[in-house]
Amino acid sequence: MTKETVLIVDDDIRNVEFLRDSLLVPSGYTALCATDGEEAVRLALTEEPDLILLDLQMPKMNGFHVLEALNRQGREIPTILITAHGSESVAMQAFRLGVRDYFPKPFKAAEIMEAVERSLTEARLRREKEELAVRLEQVNRQLEQRIKELTILYGISKSVASLLDLDRLLARIVEATMYVTRAEETSLFLLDETTQDLQLRSVQGVGDREARPVRKSTDDTVVREVMDTGLAALSPIAGAHEPPPLESRLAVPLRARGGTIGVLHATRKMAMEPFSDRDRYQLSLLADYAAIAIENARLFAEVEEQRSKLETILVGSEDLIVVIDELGLVLLASPAAVEAFSLEMEEMIGKPLLEVTGSEALDRLFNLPLTSNGVRSLEIPLVDGRTFHASLSPVADVGWALIMRDISHLKELDKMKSDFVATITHDLRSPLTAIQGSLALLPELGELTDEQQEFAERAMRNAEHMDTLIRNLLDIGRIEAGLEMEMEPIRLDAVIEEVVANLLGGAKSKGLILRAVVPNDVPPVRGNHTRLMQVMTNLLDNAIRYTPRGGKITVRVEDDGDHVTVSVSDTGVGIPAHAEAHIFDKFYRVEGAETRELEGIGLGLATVKSIVEKHGGQISVESTEGEGSTFCFSLPQVEPESD
Ligand code: ADP
Repeated sequence: MTKETVLIVDDDIRNVEFLRDSLLVPSGYTALCATDGEEAVRLALTEEPDLILLDLQMPKMNGFHVLEALNRQGREIPTILITAHGSESVAMQAFRLGVRDYFPKPFKAAEIMEAVERSLTEARLRREKEELAVRLEQVNRQLEQRIKELTILYGISKSVASLLDLDRLLARIVEATMYVTRAEETSLFLLDETTQDLQLRSVQGVGDREARPVRKSTDDTVVREVMDTGLAALSPIAGAHEPPPLESRLAVPLRARGGTIGVLHATRKMAMEPFSDRDRYQLSLLADYAAIAIENARLFAEVEEQRSKLETILVGSEDLIVVIDELGLVLLASPAAVEAFSLEMEEMIGKPLLEVTGSEALDRLFNLPLTSNGVRSLEIPLVDGRTFHASLSPVADVGWALIMRDISHLKELDKMKSDFVATITHDLRSPLTAIQGSLALLPELGELTDEQQEFAERAMRNAEHMDTLIRNLLDIGRIEAGLEMEMEPIRLDAVIEEVVANLLGGAKSKGLILRAVVPNDVPPVRGNHTRLMQVMTNLLDNAIRYTPRGGKITVRVEDDGDHVTVSVSDTGVGIPAHAEAHIFDKFYRVEGAETRELEGIGLGLATVKSIVEKHGGQISVESTEGEGSTFCFSLPQVEPESD
């Protein structure tokens, strides 16, 4: 770097030459020389030296006059004064005029050079400081400009992001593009995901106050390329075309979900300044916000569509449908459900279902043990007299769906069926008793031949079987009516012991292992001894019948403090999943090769369920076809007598 320029002013040419040739030039400075004051002022003004070495005493115009002349011109050039006529008042005046250093003649060369270095270093630092200040101000101005642009962009993006109607949103984006790029025409293209067609969806021209929606395929190569590459395109590239084309184009991709969903495009015709990198940068920023807003609007539209579909289902459904979250708060309810619970929609949505309905039956449903498919079901009577079959199923990531189907007419039918069966069985019994009586009297008429004896015995056996069926039918009628159900504290372990003893022989003869795991101190339940014997007998009898030779049957008793739970597990044929829901229905039998051969009319489990429910208990089944079944019922314990 070349060093600074120093102006040497002295009327004694020898001094000038000494300073120039012996000191300044050898040290690398450029030296300007003047031998009188006027020349000094002229050189100082035209050449603008960085430092002046100024003699005081000169003919015509002395050193002070030179400084005053420069001051008047507004020039402040660092000056070192050298004089043979030094005095305190001279020094005072010199400093007042801005002199940096003051040397009496004769001077020492080293001192002068030191002063020159010092002054110039100071000047250098001052200059750097000034330059820095200028640069800082420039950067500040740029920053302010950027902040202003970003604030505008942010404002636009916010207004864009708040729109959920897709057509209005696209129009707003196109208008924002116009504002940001100061273009003549702006447009937005979106990819139709089903047809993969790139379509012009919104456009605004210079005279249009608002963007207008369109739907038109495009084959514009620039737009297509931006769509395919996902990279912005700017044309013309500065200096690349000579002469420049008649229009400047800017296209940026709309990126979302890791891909390009469309293109934002702007054109400026002719005379205007072409688009710059800065325009591209700003439009890319806008495009990023816009793409997110478009995705939001699309998702919103999808959710809206699903919601309205769901609403149509809910409104149209005769079933009562309620969806609740994991905390039991109602998310959705069909109008029929709201009405059935005598509530208003706003009294249900967002509220805890069990609390607002106050339904004890629902409460019981929620507390039922889970079945293997996670569904709980229960019959629920409503205050308006209707009976519903309620099923509560888990809904992943949501909570639960409660669907209640009106089964009042089925209950009615069931009752009619029961009444009919009761009447018919009663009417069947009298002739059957007569048949049995007559058959019993046959031997008294005289010796029967072997063949007659065999026919009579077969008739007797079938009459007995028929009698059992009729008794079973009558029995379930009585149980359902709550007849013959005197309750007392019963020890279930004793009941189990008795039934196991009764059936052990049958199990053994079929090669089955039958065992009971019963704790010592099973608390009593309130129950009817005969009916509970019937429950255990039916369950164990089924386990024995539906378990092939070599299998295992286990009875377990557990007590959780409130209930005594009895389970009967077998390693038998099991029950197909589709049949589990019907297994306790009257006359229901599983259709299958294994069961078809076994006698039965499908009343055993219906009787068992009826008895358990009359005891205030619950029964359930878990089974895997081909592996075995577990029937489980629990009864409330006898409340301890309070003293
Ligand atoms: P059934 O007189 O037919 O045995 P139930 O009401 O006792 O009538 O049983 C109804 C149906 O349930 C039976 O037909 C049988 O298919 C099925 N079932 C009952 N218990 C069992 C079991 N332990 N294992 C497999 N299937 C069973």
